[in-house]
Order: sequence, then structure tokens, then C-alpha cells
Amino acid sequence: MKKRYSILIFCSLLVACNGNIANLRPHGSQTNTPELTRNNYLMGFLNEYRSSYDVTYYDINIDFDIEQKSIDGFVTIKAKSLDEIDALQVDLAKNLNIQKITYQDSPVKYYREEDAVMVYFNQTIDKDTLFDFTIHYNGIPQSADNPPWAGGFTWSKDKNDRDWVAVSCEGEGARIWWPNKDHISEEPDSVRMAFTVPSDLMSIANGQLRSVVEKENNKTTYEWFVNNPINNYNISVQIGNYVAVQDTFIKENTTHYMNHYVLDYNKEVAQNYFPQSKEVIRFYEKYFGDYQWWDDGYKLIEVPYLGMEHQSAVTYGNGFSIYNGVRSSSWGMYGVIDPLIIHESGHEWFGNSVTAIDPTHIWIHEGLQVYTEALYFEDKFNSYEVSVDYLKSIKSRIQNKIPIVGPEGENYWALNGDTYMKGAWVMHTLRSAINDDAIWFGILKEFMVENAKSHVSTEDFFNKVKEKTGTDYTYFSEQYFYSPNQPELEYYQTDSEFYYRWDNVNDNFVMPMGILVNGIEKRVFPLQEFQSFDISKHSTIEVMDWKFYVKAIKK
Ligand SMILES: [Zn+2]
Repeated sequence: MKKRYSILIFCSLLVACNGNIANLRPHGSQTNTPELTRNNYLMGFLNEYRSSYDVTYYDINIDFDIEQKSIDGFVTIKAKSLDEIDALQVDLAKNLNIQKITYQDSPVKYYREEDAVMVYFNQTIDKDTLFDFTIHYNGIPQSADNPPWAGGFTWSKDKNDRDWVAVSCEGEGARIWWPNKDHISEEPDSVRMAFTVPSDLMSIANGQLRSVVEKENNKTTYEWFVNNPINNYNISVQIGNYVAVQDTFIKENTTHYMNHYVLDYNKEVAQNYFPQSKEVIRFYEKYFGDYQWWDDGYKLIEVPYLGMEHQSAVTYGNGFSIYNGVRSSSWGMYGVIDPLIIHESGHEWFGNSVTAIDPTHIWIHEGLQVYTEALYFEDKFNSYEVSVDYLKSIKSRIQNKIPIVGPEGENYWALNGDTYMKGAWVMHTLRSAINDDAIWFGILKEFMVENAKSHVSTEDFFNKVKEKTGTDYTYFSEQYFYSPNQPELEYYQTDSEFYYRWDNVNDNFVMPMGILVNGIEKRVFPLQEFQSFDISKHSTIEVMDWKFYVKAIKK
């Protein structure tokens, strides 16, 4: 009777909150953001059955049947109760079967709705108690349609027609292949992974390899361990004919070991190609603080899709080609760095160490990441102009259809709109608005160092901006992150005056703007009404739209 009562409370609580959340969407005017489905509500909102416990440890055990594309395993979840609990929500894709859930060695009852699994303990667990429970499950996990963007398992063959398997699941959630509390704000303190695969293949995962144990049925279990907080979607498995490619990273008399894994026939090229990752790490450490995961190592793992930022196990599938990688047409990097290596390795800072508190703030991973790639060129070539050139090369991909930041609490992974390219341009614009590089680079570094291994929101970023500049940039955040509209600078000139004004902006938008008058930069503060300044006859005027993401419109 008690359990049925709990189920009813669970459902009615969610229905009630469902309505409230939709009405509380920030800034009221989201356009074209996805409809809030029941499953996205269950996955996106931290109801009391999720917020009442904190996961400390996942112990993941999976046996792979590659021919059947199926998995069979169990996961033990260790957690701390943050309240008295007799039930909690854990998440597992609804297409996977649960065989049993056990607590203190006894089966317990559970109830499934969409991807949510309500687990009912046979007793009340006191507040501040460490407890664990185990979920036994199996099934055929989702295959990837277009990894890493539409993720799941990639079951493929290498050039020698041997099995080659990998998983990517950002956005879809790790629940598509193992049970967990699948919210971006939840990271365990450590994870053990034991992946059992056919003995002619290797299984590579995050962190350090602890043991390799041969089983009776011509299978081998590879045990990996991550000794740090990690996003669920970063936990990964790769299965193939891998060989190790060893390298070292030396910093201040300390030697760190890098053990990359590539297909056996790519060992030679990888030995020559992967050392560029050390230059990437040095760049990110210089501007954004120390690499956080040396006790888990750093490695690149070759995969049959483009790549992904799997923490301490960055996956790589760009063909070992500095100019002509698999997406070279849209991603030129002057032949100085592999775009995949810099992008996915940079996520060790932006995304893996400093993580969005809700997936709607994912520009903190992607927009900042793309922006730092422009800064990499600025540093590499010692040229601001090269960073602008890079940003100009990606500008045409901005759409201005939906805001970069959408609704919170709705499992809204803002990856499809302008998160990447506009996110980068908005950071470039903010640098220009602040107009003080010492402050700007201080903002970026402090934000990353102070928030290392923790979670942040868009508001947290702008709080740091306010702290460092003494200026409230809420108007900037509201325009560029919470509205889809690109500011327009309307202008015209007469023989003696230059007229300018903002259009397509929020009422509170007061960003300064750079104008070149006969080659000399002038800083103005446009309003929505025309203002003017004196010019000489036939002056040459340029609106500096290479420093600010605004559209210049000559009237
Ligand atoms: Zn990315």
C-alpha cells in the first residue's frame, strides 16, 4: 500500500511542477525551442527523488556481444542521502531491460516511466547515509545515427574488416547504455568500469587501466578506473584492435604519462601526429589553468566517428590529416593544428572541468571552446588579426533564429542553435566591449581556475565579468544569450556629421561600439535614437563589425 501511494505522489508531483516550469521559462520569449516532452521533463528537472541523493561512485560492469550488438551488465550506484529517503529516481533508457534491482542483497521494487526508474527501498534510509544499490540489466542499446551529434553505439569495422566499436552519448545521455542519475549537475567522485569483450579485441575507456583478466569463454575483462568527478556522457568504451602509443608531458620537472590508443596499423602515423596534443595542453594551461586529470592521464583514442571530449580519453577520428581531415572544408586551421585535437582536448577545461549546471548553458562548453581556438591562433601567430580572420571564417554559420540559452530544467541541450559559432563571436564581442585585455584574460582565467571541477551557469560567468570590470553586463547577456537578435547599427553620413543608432536590440542595450573615422578608432555609445558626431567632408567611415557581432546597415 505504501509503495503504491509513493507512485501516486511521484506522478502528481511531476505533473504539478511540469506546468510551473513551463511558465517560469526565463526571459519569456523563447522561440523555436523544442516542446517539453514528458521524458525531457523527467530527465531535465531535479525533482525531490533526484535531488535527495548525491552519487559518489559508479561501478559499471558490462559484457559486450558484438555480433548481436547487445550488452548485459550490472551497475552499482553508491550515493549519499541528502534527506530521508525511501525511494529515488535513477535513469535508464526504456528500451533496455531491467532484470532486477537489489539493495542490501535483496531485490527491491521499481516502477518505470519513459527513461525514469523509480526505485523503492524496503526501508527508510536516514539523511547523510552512504548507501548503494545495484541494477542488473541487458538489451540492445541505441545505435548512433550521426555520431557524435546523434549519438549511441557505432558498430563498425576497421580497414582489415575487424570489429571496431565506440559509443558517444552527449545529449542522448549515458542512460542509453548504463543506469545512472542522468543530469549534467551530477558527477560521481570516481568510477570503475569493467568491460568484457572478445579476447582478440581490446577495450579502452577513461582513466587508468587497472587489470586485464581473461575469462573462460574466450573473453577478456578490461578494468578501468577514473579517480575524478566526470560527466556521465564522458564515460565511454572503445573496442577494437588497439595498440598503445606512449608519450610523456613534462612540466616543472614532473613527468606525466600519455598512453594513446590507435588501431594497430596506425601506430606509426599516430606516433608522429599525436605529440601536437602537448602543444594544445600547454596553451590551455597558460590561459585557463592546470590540466585537472593527470592522475587519470591524458590519451587520444582512435574511433570510427569524428571525435568527442571523453574526459582523459579524448576520442579522435579526423584521419591524422592536418589540412584535409574529414571535415576540412568547414574547419580550416591554417595547417598548424588538428581541429579535432584542439577542440576536444580544450573541452578538458571547457565542459569537463568547468561544466554547465544545466544543459541549456552548454555555450560554456562549446562557445567558449570555439572562442579559445581563435585565441590559440592569436597566441600561436602572435597576431590578433589571425584570430579575427578565424572568427570571420566561421561567422556565416550563425543563424540568429533561437537564443543561445533556452529553458532550464527541461533536458534542453542547446547544441543545435548558435551555441558554437555565435557563442565564440559573443565572447569576442565582449572582449571588445570591455576594451581591456588584461581584464579580459583575467576574467577567463579566474572563471576557469575558480570553477575547476565544478558547475556554472551563464549568470555565474557574468557575475565574474561584473566583479572584474565593475560594470554590470546584464544588458549584454540578455541581448546575446537570451535573445536571438543580432544588434544592427544603422548609420549614414552627411558632409559634416556621422549619424548612428541601434536597431533590433532590447531596450536596455547600451553596448559601446567601435567606428573607424579616416582610419582612427572612435568609441561611441549608440542609443536607439540617432546621435551624431562631427566629421570632415568625404570622411571614410568603417563600422568595426570585425570586433563586435553587430550588423552594420547603411541608411
Ligand atoms: Zn565541442
